[in-house]
Amino acid sequence: MAGVAPRRRVTIERKRQAPVQNGITTPQLPPAAPRGLCTDCGISRMSNAKACGTACQFIAPDYPALETQVHGRARDPARNPDELHFGPFRTMLRARLKTPAEGAQWTGITTRLAEKLLEAGAVDAVLTMAPDPEDKWKPMPVLITRPEGMAAARGMRMGYAPLLALLEPAAAAGHKRIAIIGIPCQVYALRSIEATLGFERIFVIGTPCSDNTTTESFHQFLALLDENPDSITYLEFRADYQVELRFADGRQRTIPFLALPISQLPKDFFPLTCRTCVDYTNVLADITVGYMAGRGEQWLLVRNARGAELLALLGDEIHTEAPTSAGKRANAVKGFLANTERAAGGLPLRRMPDWVRPIVSWLMPRIGPRGLEFGRTRVEMKACESVVHLRREHPARLKNMLPEHVWKLVAPYGLTPGPEEAPAPRSGKKPAPHADGATAPARHGPPPG
Ligand SMILES: Cc1cc2nc3c(=O)[nH]c(=O)nc-3n(C[C@H](O)[C@H](O)[C@H](O)COP(=O)(O)OP(=O)(O)OC[C@H]3O[C@@H](n4cnc5c(N)ncnc54)[C@H](O)[C@@H]3O)c2cc1C
Ligand code: SF4
Ligand code: SF4
Repeated sequence: MAGVAPRRRVTIERKRQAPVQNGITTPQLPPAAPRGLCTDCGISRMSNAKACGTACQFIAPDYPALETQVHGRARDPARNPDELHFGPFRTMLRARLKTPAEGAQWTGITTRLAEKLLEAGAVDAVLTMAPDPEDKWKPMPVLITRPEGMAAARGMRMGYAPLLALLEPAAAAGHKRIAIIGIPCQVYALRSIEATLGFERIFVIGTPCSDNTTTESFHQFLALLDENPDSITYLEFRADYQVELRFADGRQRTIPFLALPISQLPKDFFPLTCRTCVDYTNVLADITVGYMAGRGEQWLLVRNARGAELLALLGDEIHTEAPTSAGKRANAVKGFLANTERAAGGLPLRRMPDWVRPIVSWLMPRIGPRGLEFGRTRVEMKACESVVHLRREHPARLKNMLPEHVWKLVAPYGLTPGPEEAPAPRSGKKPAPHADGATAPARHGPPPG
């Protein structure tokens, strides 16, 4: 998929020769191997490229086993019903940095956590994405070894880049303790190969992810939003049903979701990977930093002891409070499912007269699902979408690709697995949980003193 064109390899070669600034290096990465459903997480570029067969979220993921490996237990809705939607967690919070970081997507909790790790000497390097110097919307994998380098990584870029291919250059550079900031398909693959990597410690800071697309396609979208798309510096799909745009001259603009020019986008604007991805909230990260359930603030899921350790690093720099919830999701999800089925593989367009759209756009942030209910809504929509698109485009993959919890999420909407679709039994081999919910120390050596 992304990243295999010769032009890209030339670009990477050129960047390698750039001087190291603020502790940021852009190692030369091998080319991607050809794969089917693939977001080029980087594994196919590593020496054991065959690991894709067991590490890939798009083949036969085993969430219960990896959740147990990473957090000490699998998601348990009996403990907290929200674990069915959001995966295992210890604490869920609304949060913001008291002083928002300039250039951050929200207030910058994600990059500040990594900056703190570098400041404290708890890690030698952070593996993350910076904007490509030739295209600010294109993610470029970088190794950052100095706290001041983290500022360059702030903000969200649309597209894929081979984050995990940085693991081998990081090890070769002698880094023993690392942090990784990744999206769910990258984190799933990381957790699958983590035990083989030989690092002493890996902190995993995850963000949710949905509706990603190639950077090239994203430029088409920007061109539909503004006559001068190059001047757009920021875009976010907010939880109040508005897309926020910021411009180089300081202007800001919001567009209601219902007024987006979706009908003008090509049918395959969102690749099948992102239409069938089963992990919205990054359930295998130590801490997930998103915004979905934050009602205008950020949203944190502290998933294990390592995640708690990360959050503690922020001390009183961060304001936190309990998340809240309002509205009801069932009708919104039912409507989305009907639109997705009607769209026959394309984008889910709403059947709604133009004059009704402004009224519904006004109503949604006021009476629609908000806070935690908005998070649950989006997770259920994504689960419905995965079932519909896989049934249409890759029916044989359903039994391996869709975990049991996804079927539980879609059951209230009448979607149940047929005889050929029910989840295939996994190996049953569950890795031993680690007492603090962190990764098993036997595989990674002792934590630093
Ligand atoms: C494609 C995409 C879709 C997302 N969709 C949702 C969503 O639906 N709901 C939700 O709650 N959150 C979503 N997020 C996460 C959200 O945009 C914020 O990144 C997150 O809330 C953290 O904000 P922050 O201010 O703490 O981040 P910052 O401190 O600004 O740091 C952002 C971090 O994200 C990394 N990053 C940026 N772009 C990419 C990329 N393409 N691939 C990998 N890493 C990247 C940066 O390198 C940086 O480390 C999405 C992120 C991406 C990349
Ligand atoms: S593991 Fe990564 S590189 Fe391999 S097929 Fe999956 S997404 Fe692609
Ligand atoms: S939507 Fe899923 S598959 Fe697509 S980039 Fe995000 S995490 Fe990966």
